[in-house]
Amino acid sequence: MDKDILIIGGGPSGLSTALHLTKIAAHLSSRILILEKEQYPRHKLCAGGLVIDAERILEGLGLDVREVPHVDVDTAHFDFAGKGLNVRMPKRHAIRVIRRNEFDHWLAKKAQSRGIKILQGVSVKKVIPSEDGVTVQTDQGEFRAGIVIGADGSNGITRKCIFPNEPIYTARVLELITPLAENEHKPDHAYFDFFPVPNNIAGYTWDFPTIVNGQPMRCWGIYDTNVLADQKRPALKQPLAEEMQRHGLDLQDYELKGHPIRWYNPRNKTSVPRVLLVGDAVGADSIFGEGISIALGYGAVAAQEIAESYQRNEFSFRGYKHRLARSGLGQTLLARWVITYIIYPIKWKWFQILLWRILQPIVLFVAWVFVLNWSKRLK
Ligand SMILES: Cc1cc2nc3c(=O)[nH]c(=O)nc-3n(C[C@H](O)[C@H](O)[C@H](O)COP(=O)(O)OP(=O)(O)OC[C@H]3O[C@@H](n4cnc5c(N)ncnc54)[C@H](O)[C@@H]3O)c2cc1C
Repeated sequence: MDKDILIIGGGPSGLSTALHLTKIAAHLSSRILILEKEQYPRHKLCAGGLVIDAERILEGLGLDVREVPHVDVDTAHFDFAGKGLNVRMPKRHAIRVIRRNEFDHWLAKKAQSRGIKILQGVSVKKVIPSEDGVTVQTDQGEFRAGIVIGADGSNGITRKCIFPNEPIYTARVLELITPLAENEHKPDHAYFDFFPVPNNIAGYTWDFPTIVNGQPMRCWGIYDTNVLADQKRPALKQPLAEEMQRHGLDLQDYELKGHPIRWYNPRNKTSVPRVLLVGDAVGADSIFGEGISIALGYGAVAAQEIAESYQRNEFSFRGYKHRLARSGLGQTLLARWVITYIIYPIKWKWFQILLWRILQPIVLFVAWVFVLNWSKRLK
């Protein structure tokens, strides 16, 4: 047996699981090994928007994300066709924007400084659980572990191995970066615009300020949950091109990249004996595809499950799904899933206008109670 606890994937969910384990069960630290297929600092397609819950979870681990280059967004605008709801947080920024190559590298270094071993450049090909352990086949040979945590993201191999025939709920996402125009002020507002919904794109376009290699830039993108996928839709890049055109930019001039986001559905399975899943491997937020805080939250809940399993010396992980559902994380994921099936299928223009422009106090209340602040109830 090479290591007791093998974590597949060194993104926020895998690193958070390891960091929470060192916090609540320090004696397990030396028994953890993370396998990461890339070398840090590695690229990860992501707009890098951190909400308050991400920062709160990191603070709970004694980590200060201000060490990572970032842009603080004062106001987040949730619009329909350029007009809508402005969200500010009392006495703080609404969103903090990081780049994932820098953020994940920073988090990995923090884990290493706390004694966690990370093997980089090792790609897992197959995960085979058995009664007394798990065999993990990689491009660098075979590993044996007592338990495995699948933290390998939306396209991860772990979930494919343990649940080969399960339905998959994924969003389509496109992203690109543009430089600031000459004399353009450094932006500090983030925009989400739901104008594509009446055209059966069940999501929004975004425009965030960001910082790439020290240079202020803008990150644009479009998110589609796919819940209206059975209806006629334009090409995904079309509404993004329209939005950029309104700001005098031509999408064709920039490199567009895409990646799916697997989102949470209460039917998603979460574990088999000796293998449990965290982060996008289970599912991110379905409304926005917000997954960094969620991935960090999965790490906290999974660590608790793992620590208790070692105390009992019993690794069925039978209670993991229930533990998730009971936690603030499970509650927000469920609420967001319900909201997704309200705000996107009622796709008509008048409803979107009502939602983002007229029902503002109700939307703010729902956001405050069901979408934010869940990390206070992680146990
Ligand atoms: C375009 C886009 C924009 C987004 N914007 C935001 C945003 O602004 N805010 C937000 O909160 N969320 C955002 N998200 C979602 C967010 O990126 C994810 O939810 C988050 O990264 C999930 O973390 P994770 O650790 O579960 O998975 P990942 O971050 O995907 O990490 C998985 C890790 O596993 C490694 N890995 C994969 N396969 C293997 C293998 N076979 N062997 C070994 N290692 C492996 C990968 O290299 C990676 O390091 C966005 C996503 C996309 C696609």
